Amino acid sequence: MTPVTDSVETARALLPAPTLATLPDAVGANIRRVRAATDGLIMAVVKADGYGHGAVTVAQAAVAAGAEWLGVTDLAEAAVLREAGFTVPILSWLNPAGVDAAAAAAYGVDIAVGSAEELRHLIADATSPVRVHLHMDTGMSRGGSPLDEWPELLRVARQGRGRVEVVGVMGHLPHADDGDPRANAAAVLRMRQARDAVLREGFGPVLVHLAATSGALTDPATHFGMVRIGAGLVGIDPSETVALAGAGRFTASVVHSSFVQEGTPIGYGGAHVTAEATNLSVVGVGYADGIPREVAEGAAVEIGGVRHPLVGRVSMDQIVIDTGEARYPRGTPVTVYGPEGGVVPSVQEWARWAGTIPHTIVTGIGTRVQRSIA
Ligand SMILES: *Cc1c(COP(=O)(O)O)cnc(C)c1O
Repeated sequence: MTPVTDSVETARALLPAPTLATLPDAVGANIRRVRAATDGLIMAVVKADGYGHGAVTVAQAAVAAGAEWLGVTDLAEAAVLREAGFTVPILSWLNPAGVDAAAAAAYGVDIAVGSAEELRHLIADATSPVRVHLHMDTGMSRGGSPLDEWPELLRVARQGRGRVEVVGVMGHLPHADDGDPRANAAAVLRMRQARDAVLREGFGPVLVHLAATSGALTDPATHFGMVRIGAGLVGIDPSETVALAGAGRFTASVVHSSFVQEGTPIGYGGAHVTAEATNLSVVGVGYADGIPREVAEGAAVEIGGVRHPLVGRVSMDQIVIDTGEARYPRGTPVTVYGPEGGVVPSVQEWARWAGTIPHTIVTGIGTRVQRSIA
């Protein structure tokens, strides 16, 4: 074994921490891209901490670029946004812990309701009026009212007038990753039926919304009055038809370097054995930081302007990179992913290597990875 020669950089004790930087300009560019595709309003969906990029950071960039609404899955996420000073309308639709009607009214947060039972509870608890969006199941059986229970939902809403105010009707496209409009036709029809029934009951103007990123970018028939954009904000187009701007850069450092001979096993289980003598760089991020353990051969990072392959298994706190002829001292910056393309891997590439979708990569970055705004 030939030891790596020390350099001035190796003398530095403190290395830059693994960091996920959010790029607000990219979020703004993605909002403008959606704006060009629709006449509807745009809701910026910042659930799951803005798809891992920071809910407030992403919301600020989206609203600054013209998004008219914000969307979240529960009141706690909505409260964070109100406390950060956002005054735009906010919709909360999943509410897994139920809805505190007083908090919804106090924070001025709209609530999506998909069953008569939920709506009865809300009406019973409401002391001042809560704005609601009636949620139709448009084909997922994952929340929302089935068509045959819609009349009952409307009946309860009518009885609850004064305590709840129906301001919207929502659905969700089951083929959220399908760029083919034919896949959405049934949901669009169901949405029209839902809207028409609400209008017949005399509820007055309602904001109708069905599409998420994919529908917004590929199928105007799904747009109605508003589109709800989550993945697209951070550069993920589930339909893979539009190149959006990546909004995150995940960086780390080389924490250890070594030179090894041919036939050297690497990592747990010796799952990889070097085919020839080579340099290795250990990078201080692992599956606890969001590097998927499932990555197949081909996964790589950028070091020194070159794409180098990951070898051996992903550990909890580290990965090993085969850098070939190149030796990188401790402290050399590493890009796990970023928006640049070329030698810098993208989130989409990581998803392919792991056999998953980009969403799980960006929402899976661990809590000890520092967050910054670029
Ligand atoms: C997450 C979510 C969205 C946003 O979907 P993207 O495909 O990420 O844009 C929209 N609507 C609902 C109901 C959601 O749960």
